[in-house]
Amino acid sequence: MPVLVKQKPGVEAKRMSDVLVLAGEEVRLGQSKIIDVPLPDLYMQTALSMPVHVIRGRRKGPILFVSAAVHGDEINGVEIIRRLVKSKSLKGLKGTIIAIPVVNVYGFLNQSRYLPDRRDLNRCFPGSDEGSLAARLADSFMKEVVSQCTHGIDLHTAAIHRDNLPQIRADLSNPDVEMMAHAFDAPVVVNSSLIQGSLRYAAASYDVPVIVYEAGEALRFNEMAIRAGVKGVLAMMRHIGMLATTRHKKRQHEPFVARSSVWVRAPESGIFRMLVPMGASVNKGDLLGMVAAPYGKGDSETEVLASSSGIVIGRTNIPLVNEGEALFHIARFNKPDEVADSVLAFHTDLDPATDTAVPDELPII
Ligand SMILES: [Zn+2]
Repeated sequence: MPVLVKQKPGVEAKRMSDVLVLAGEEVRLGQSKIIDVPLPDLYMQTALSMPVHVIRGRRKGPILFVSAAVHGDEINGVEIIRRLVKSKSLKGLKGTIIAIPVVNVYGFLNQSRYLPDRRDLNRCFPGSDEGSLAARLADSFMKEVVSQCTHGIDLHTAAIHRDNLPQIRADLSNPDVEMMAHAFDAPVVVNSSLIQGSLRYAAASYDVPVIVYEAGEALRFNEMAIRAGVKGVLAMMRHIGMLATTRHKKRQHEPFVARSSVWVRAPESGIFRMLVPMGASVNKGDLLGMVAAPYGKGDSETEVLASSSGIVIGRTNIPLVNEGEALFHIARFNKPDEVADSVLAFHTDLDPATDTAVPDELPII
């Protein structure tokens, strides 16, 4: 008897399929549904599911997943998806959006990055239906969502008590990924190789190019990070032909690709005062902050100096630091001054006071 080898559907086969079936539910061209993907119950035996928006245009085209809260406390992406799925820009959509506001439902309920079994979901892909809770969730996500898609965007923020300048992380050695990274139009692109167990890594094995958008802080909303995220997803969709190009198609901010990045760490434990803002351009040796003893005991203070020239793309938000803790993330660029100007222009353009591109949305202050 011949052995049946289950082939992964090619990109063209996915794009050309009339019916999309997710968790056993059919979605036809022109239809939109919210489908509950069943997940293992909570321990109170409360049933749990992962709600998934499936929005299909009348015409066939790319199938894009947009996922958020793979880390359960990273909630800017949840708001990005809320705005995305009701965006008027989706009129005339070609292809399909599969949007998952909360992937790690367990972590989201606990306001935690992790699952109740303390695993990091983004190290458990592609998962297995017989593995840990995290592995089972990863497996459902791969089978129901990623395997059906031609492209993916995974929305993240910095970890708790840290902040990230809006940036794309992507494996630029893959031309499709590189194209998506540039099309998103974030101020900064950081080349980031695939980490085993991550969603990006597992998606690559399905030939689905995925970029990660990192912006803001865990458990906090950041209006600019959210606006930049919505605009970035729509810009990427325009670029791959899912939406008609608009009058505003001219690129406003050239995204800059970082050559590399370094962490500046706390030289000693204590109370930390930060002296440079996010997005600042710094030179090697610049004073970035001071570490002092608590209660003003003793008068010695330790300077924190930039170990490299570049742009601050991430920093801590908590002034209580232990020696060795990462305080600043500095990305190195060939033309740092141009990047600094672009970051400034980006902030000005997205300022809710002046940006009228999202008129029906009250800004979160
Ligand atoms: Zn994350």
